[in-house]
Amino acid sequence: MNWLVKENVCPGLFYGTPAQDGFLVRIRTPGGILEAQQGREIATLLDQWATTIQVTNRANLQIRGVQESPTLANFQTLQKLGLAASNPSIDHLRNIMGSPTAGIDSQELVDTRELIKELDNFIQNHPEIAALSPKFSIGIDGGGAVGIGTRSSVAWEHRYNEIQLSAIAVNNQQNQPNATSNLAFRLALGGDKQLEQTDILIAPENCLSVVAALVIVYLDYVQQNPSINGKKNRMKHLLKDWGVEKYLEQVNSQLNHPLEQTFSSRSWSPLEPTAQPYSYLGIHDQKQAELAYVGLPLRLGKLTADQLRGLGELSETFGSSQFRLTPWQTVILPDIPKEKVPDLLLKLASLGLSAGVGWDAVIVACAGKPGCGRSATATQIHGAILADYLQQVLPEYLGDRSTGNIPVNIHLTGCDKSCAQPSPAEITLLGTTIEQNGELIEGYKVYLGDGKQSLKSQIFTGEFAKIPSLIAKILTTLKVDSQQDE
Ligand code: SF4
Repeated sequence: MNWLVKENVCPGLFYGTPAQDGFLVRIRTPGGILEAQQGREIATLLDQWATTIQVTNRANLQIRGVQESPTLANFQTLQKLGLAASNPSIDHLRNIMGSPTAGIDSQELVDTRELIKELDNFIQNHPEIAALSPKFSIGIDGGGAVGIGTRSSVAWEHRYNEIQLSAIAVNNQQNQPNATSNLAFRLALGGDKQLEQTDILIAPENCLSVVAALVIVYLDYVQQNPSINGKKNRMKHLLKDWGVEKYLEQVNSQLNHPLEQTFSSRSWSPLEPTAQPYSYLGIHDQKQAELAYVGLPLRLGKLTADQLRGLGELSETFGSSQFRLTPWQTVILPDIPKEKVPDLLLKLASLGLSAGVGWDAVIVACAGKPGCGRSATATQIHGAILADYLQQVLPEYLGDRSTGNIPVNIHLTGCDKSCAQPSPAEITLLGTTIEQNGELIEGYKVYLGDGKQSLKSQIFTGEFAKIPSLIAKILTTLKVDSQQDE
């Protein structure tokens, strides 16, 4: 099997995307769930390739700096472990995103893991889906404490999927006495960095067929409307051309159980918004009374091979031989007997991992220089320097934030494409080139966001060296303001 190296293709495992520091490879992990054995195999690959691995903002794994093609044996091993599609043509499609605490969250309405498996199976068995843009994406939210749907009041928690199903509680009593569940999934459609809510509620047992119909019509649209710029048309183009109503009419025509007829008369109430952006970090009780899970921040989402291997081993020793990646570039170790948590924390410390909220958890950076040719700046290096600085000068700051009211998210991006975080940030550093003493040097424009727009107001342009202290001042002011508001 040859590596399908192509320019301008979203990276997958079979499509290594050339970057300045080597090839970029992505491994899909539907729902972000990794078995210990899978983690071990990826760590072995990392040993061979001697590169960096990062959890992405879709909760999959991205390996940078790969210098040589994976071997046929590598591909076969990863396929056997369920880490590579049996059909390479669909492997580069986006990971299915799910609530990272599915099945362990005492507040969740439904455990979404089975549905995610079914949907992934559907994708694996329908190679025609490869005709969609690689940005085709599905998100499933189980309605628990850690949401990936549209219900969060915290802007940066939003994750934009082209098809988003979010569990909600519904009232069947009056209108649908024969309905089988008090639960439904509300459909939202992802447009241009935003989600368009619909009034469509889907019974859990119909999710697969509805998603299949949404995909068929989307495929029809893409085939009827080839793009003019060489890139495939996306859901945002479909929604712009047709609007939601026409799209759903076409979807209805594909279904035996038309959407409107089944659910329009049911009443439903939205869930309380998720209030705590870091609520999954640290140690938490699971819905299984005797068990706990541990949420671990990672510096800029990065893991070493030893940490990856170690997480697998600790999950075997203390938990259920499984760990989870989150869309916030962090890791969760589930199913730990409560009495074993202190021992686990000691072992994690020896891997350089600790539970709790630090500045590493709130700073996001794209690949930047030297990995990405479009980048004006070394965002990863600057992100790490900024995290260290804030940890030193504002060590207590996030302690307050973990309880809630003003979440802080800092995003460093090497260009305005914002690959690392499409959702709004409170503070954004946008890489640029500036003139200083007649010379062109690297710098940043610093923006404050307003919860809807990241780049709402520009407050500074200049070299990075001046930015950490500037941000510390801004954060201190924000904190004072929020205390005065209380
Ligand atoms: S945001 Fe721009 S600079 Fe950063 S990785 Fe994406 S394309 Fe490259």
